[in-house]
Amino acid sequence: MLDLFKGLEKLFKPYKGSLIEVKSLPYHGLSKDEILSVLKKMATLEDKSWIDGKVSGAVYHGGGELLSLYNDVFSIFPVANPLHPDVWPSLVKLENEVVAMVAGLLHGDSNVRGSITMGGTESILLAMKTYRDYYRDKRGITEPEIVLPRSAHAAFLKACEYFNIRPVIVDLDDEFRVDVEKVKESITRNTIAIVGSAPNFPYGTIDPIKDLAEIAMDHGIGMHVDAALGGFVLPFARKLGYDVPQFDFEIEGVTSINVDTHKYGYAPKGSSVILYRNPELFRYQVYTIGDWAGGIYFTPTTLGSKPGFTIAATWAVMLYLGEKGYMEITKAMLEAGRYIINEVGKIKELKVLGKPLWIIAIASDIVNPYVVMDYMSQRGWHLIGLVKPPAFHIALTYRHTLPNVKEAFISDLRESVKDALEKGQPPIGMAPIYGMSAFLPRDQINAILREFIDWLYNPWD
Ligand SMILES: *Cc1c(COP(=O)(O)O)cnc(C)c1O
Repeated sequence: MLDLFKGLEKLFKPYKGSLIEVKSLPYHGLSKDEILSVLKKMATLEDKSWIDGKVSGAVYHGGGELLSLYNDVFSIFPVANPLHPDVWPSLVKLENEVVAMVAGLLHGDSNVRGSITMGGTESILLAMKTYRDYYRDKRGITEPEIVLPRSAHAAFLKACEYFNIRPVIVDLDDEFRVDVEKVKESITRNTIAIVGSAPNFPYGTIDPIKDLAEIAMDHGIGMHVDAALGGFVLPFARKLGYDVPQFDFEIEGVTSINVDTHKYGYAPKGSSVILYRNPELFRYQVYTIGDWAGGIYFTPTTLGSKPGFTIAATWAVMLYLGEKGYMEITKAMLEAGRYIINEVGKIKELKVLGKPLWIIAIASDIVNPYVVMDYMSQRGWHLIGLVKPPAFHIALTYRHTLPNVKEAFISDLRESVKDALEKGQPPIGMAPIYGMSAFLPRDQINAILREFIDWLYNPWD
């Protein structure tokens, strides 16, 4: 194990030597009580970190009523599998209704088609595969490229690696939105799609989707909007009077959108929606084989067998909250965002990057932001480190709208800045790792990461 990881053992393998350790299948089964007590011990410890709203993103709602709705739905659909629509036609109905509801939020009409996937990553992988296959068929493009803001989610780079697409990465402007002129210059005859985020993960800023869509239309290529975070916030934010630019199917050139129902849709994990403007594009997403030895086989998404529960739960949560429920949460969350942005503005060592609403990236010219983040970690906060420029962010959720959470964030932040200035780097933390990664070439960082993963997923260690 690299020395670098030694300090991380407590964080990533905290149960070593305490609870039962299983290295092979027991011959005699254990009692239900024994099994559940182990799970409960771990869950109880882990619940602490998110229940108090000290985690960025991760648990987007977590309220008792919603959790009990998840459990009720699971108890009704514990074995349902959408691979067999003849056995569970209910799942077809529920999935189509979720797709229709989400399309409705995003100015989609009855031409829109789509799927529920297992997450934002799967939605993005599918959209990129769809454009690759569509433009190979329509234009004979065999060396496809996508134009990608530097702030786009890693899932797009993963899609490029999986599907042999070349990512053409474009830098951002001073407000941390993609530079439209540079996008224009990056288009070649191999470009199959432009990507924009509403908003992006690192800075919470919204790319100028309208301008990007115009470029896409000029070239007759795809315009994909990553609304993983914004799909269930921006429509309500606009109704609440916030200044929200157009970002969805309202813009003519937008051809596909992913929205993560398992984030601000408040569904359980394993749920995202991918939408296409028309059935013609959607057709390139699905897999079919008519002459397989195992019979006629088709899957609209990546997986074969998958849980039907998440589809049913997504449908249930959307009906349970309704527009009014989403509006109330959005209102409280955006007010918390406004408060935090305002208060960070009063801390002279810190600055907010761009003009975000509820995902707030914080940097500094005076103090090392990673050291501030480490002192925040000591105070129980789980924030996200960002690179280029060095910064960290907090993605606000329902949990940050609970009493005193936003105030605690600001007072802990003030203390952490003070600690960073007075005491410098703490002995344990991520600051050295982030600091180092800023100077190392990408290959070397990847090598270290793989070393870490070898250790993390070694069942014998
Ligand atoms: C979370 C996120 C994704 C990826 O979604 P997963 O559900 O984690 O696979 C993609 N884009 C953005 C902007 C995100 O925030």
